[in-house]
Amino acid sequence: MDERTQTLIQQDQRYVIHPLHHPKDNEKPLLLVEGHGAMLKDSEGREYIDGLGGLWNVNVGHGRKELGDVAAAQMTKLAFASAYAGASNIPAIQLAERLVKLAYRNTSAVYFTTAGAESNESAFKLARFFWKVLGKPDKVKIISRVHGYHGVTMAAMSATGLAAYHKMFGPLVPNFIQAPAPYPYRWEGGGETGAEAANALEQVILREGSDTVAAVIGEPIMGAGGVIVPPPSYWPRVREICTKHNVLLIADEVITGFGRTGRWFAMGHWGVEPDLVSFAKGVTSAYLPLGGVLVSERVHAALQETPADRKFMHAATYSGHPVCCAVGLANIDIIEREGLVERAGEMGRRLLSRLESLRDLPVVGDVRGFGLMCGVELVEDRVSKKPAVGLGGRVVRESISRGLLPRLRAGSTDPAFGDTITLAPPLMTPVETIDRIAAILREAIIASTR
Ligand code: PMP
Repeated sequence: MDERTQTLIQQDQRYVIHPLHHPKDNEKPLLLVEGHGAMLKDSEGREYIDGLGGLWNVNVGHGRKELGDVAAAQMTKLAFASAYAGASNIPAIQLAERLVKLAYRNTSAVYFTTAGAESNESAFKLARFFWKVLGKPDKVKIISRVHGYHGVTMAAMSATGLAAYHKMFGPLVPNFIQAPAPYPYRWEGGGETGAEAANALEQVILREGSDTVAAVIGEPIMGAGGVIVPPPSYWPRVREICTKHNVLLIADEVITGFGRTGRWFAMGHWGVEPDLVSFAKGVTSAYLPLGGVLVSERVHAALQETPADRKFMHAATYSGHPVCCAVGLANIDIIEREGLVERAGEMGRRLLSRLESLRDLPVVGDVRGFGLMCGVELVEDRVSKKPAVGLGGRVVRESISRGLLPRLRAGSTDPAFGDTITLAPPLMTPVETIDRIAAILREAIIASTR
């Protein structure tokens, strides 16, 4: 390691508190200095395939000068101005209109945030607000699913169904309740996973009392929880259940939005229209932080028609940030111009088929994917499906040493889950690189089990 890199790493270890911080995990950090397309380069010139497209967010790939130019132009023209009611800016208006036209048929308006967690917080508050406007102030509970991930803030953490994220921060916010995940590989009911998992969610609504439930939140395809793909029966049935019990449906499309699954937004794969949609990540391909909530007609009507003394008192400084919104618009231009939504579908099918060929390795328990997000779950043996705890860390290290950066959904804190390698490269990743990802992963798994 060169001297400069060594010094920077020591300074990092001394001064920076990282997300998921533990000094042991930061003993040999990668110091990344450059990105181009689907590739990243470290301070010593080594190249890596960005196997998770940043954190599921660099949809158009790295190094797009066009996005930098748009940001610089907007910063020099108008870096910031309040967008609180009574003022606005041109990029926020244009991006909101563009998103409404791209999203679901029932999407009517957009509330902007700067991250996924903040989008979910805003969606929870919009759901409670909606029911209060409708004269049902007791509808406050939020039902989420085990294995779901919704962000770091207190309420988003409380909706998150991954116990490791709660352990050192409890107690959770009251009125957040979890239902089982539609997880075919480990579903223990006797019947069809989609129908049974949806019915289990309905039982939670009934047990809590639908008069107390504001909303159900779920990722169309769970990402951080290990790329869990629900059977096609699941979301249509959940939509029916929510409608029947007068509960809003929030789709957390922080990962699945902006083309990742082969559509602009994922619930359309199953003909489902959510009441609220959280987005972030891919809206700017991570060039700047931006997120938001797509609001359906009926929730929009509540916001428009409420009396002034019952207005939406929700005031984030950076809502509708002009520079972030300008980059969002330019990012959507790139996705459209280059056909990246369709491409994600095609490349996703290709990556999944290449990964399917790993099933001959005895530690590969499950291979799953939808669009350009895939997961490979590792087990001790395929018959018992006993989770292979610890193997995932070795596979990730072996992958990195071969030039691939994947991400691990560690099973170590969840006795019913095997370490899962997750992959979600940029939507523009060249086909040879897609094939290379699967080839490197094969070598890495073999090297880790020798
Ligand atoms: N929801 C989902 C589905 C996510 O994957 C994430 C981030 N991985 C979040 C919410 C939180 O987003 P952020 O970290 O931008 O707050």
